[in-house]
Amino acid sequence: MRSRVMALAPVPKPWIAEIHAYVAGKSSGADGRRLVKLSANENPLGTSPKALAARGEALVPSLYPDPDSVALREALGALHHIDPSRILCGTGSGELLAVAASAFAGPGDEAIYVRYGFSLYDIVIRRSGAVPVVAPDADYGTDVDGLLALVNEKTRVVFVANPNNPTGSYLPKGEIARLHAALPADVLLVLDQAYGEYVAPEDDDGGLDLAALQSNVLITRTFSKAYGLAGDRIGWATGAPELIEVLNRIRGAFNLSNAGQASALAAVQDQAFVEMSRRHNAAERARFVAAIDMLGNHGLRAVPSEANFSLVLFEGALTAEAAYQGLMERGYIIRWLPGQGLPHGLRITIGTAEQMDAIALALREMAEAAK
Ligand SMILES: *Cc1c(COP(=O)(O)O)cnc(C)c1O
Repeated sequence: MRSRVMALAPVPKPWIAEIHAYVAGKSSGADGRRLVKLSANENPLGTSPKALAARGEALVPSLYPDPDSVALREALGALHHIDPSRILCGTGSGELLAVAASAFAGPGDEAIYVRYGFSLYDIVIRRSGAVPVVAPDADYGTDVDGLLALVNEKTRVVFVANPNNPTGSYLPKGEIARLHAALPADVLLVLDQAYGEYVAPEDDDGGLDLAALQSNVLITRTFSKAYGLAGDRIGWATGAPELIEVLNRIRGAFNLSNAGQASALAAVQDQAFVEMSRRHNAAERARFVAAIDMLGNHGLRAVPSEANFSLVLFEGALTAEAAYQGLMERGYIIRWLPGQGLPHGLRITIGTAEQMDAIALALREMAEAAK
């Protein structure tokens, strides 16, 4: 046997060693007390009762699920007018973001996302071996020109969340079309529409139409937000058959559970619940943003949001950290994001009317008391 220099333990690849694990929204305070959780953009209305019923009736746990989630893909295809062969399901859209990065980028390549973009992009890009390149934002929004300026011959994948998390910012259809048109044909545009169900139909960004026509656009969607099924881990993606075929090779073999497939299928068939969630969110978000606008003289401002959360910036005497602690003392856990370059921002999931009233009142009291 050839002699080899041995390490004392298995050594992770250098690009894996550089990954910081995903940080999830918390549900309890430092003292372990359970808090009202508005930190992970879950649906405050819960889950469609029809999905819950279907989940209960799901197939026997001792049997493997349908490996191809056929019934669910057919239902999604019928709803969105997409051939089911162009749809792929994943263990949350997180799995699909990871397989997209790994299939098309690797060591020596680059993949781009925007500053204040979804934190998972950095992880899935590094996991592929490629180098993440961070594009500048435009006042917390996606800057198409700033992003395009970073595209070079090493670029393989571009990730854009629309609406974006944690900012809530949204690019209109014309900007998405302009971004796509300027990308080389061999660069994959992953348009993450995790919050797509919350966007008013007339404000659609055209992503699904682009994915239907173009060979380098992948749309990812999730059941974790408006569908209220975050705990079942279900996502889906659509794009050209050639893209879907490649991603299918490396996704998890039985990536959706029996219960998950059953609940998601029933959830797709209950669009009334999704519509109710969208309306609730739009109304409560508008009320909350109006309350924050009233605190502008105290340095608070809400970044315009098309999602189910609001990023509030603290630019006066009351700091985001103090507001975060104060809300926790009042029983609410939200998201403070110093690790994402936003020590001055709090991302607050839009909850029930009562929860939003309580948070707006608490912020007002704290802002007025701060010196
Ligand atoms: C919540 C979220 C997702 C969804 O992730 P799942 O794995 O489907 O739960 C994807 N992208 C963004 C930007 C999100 O905020």
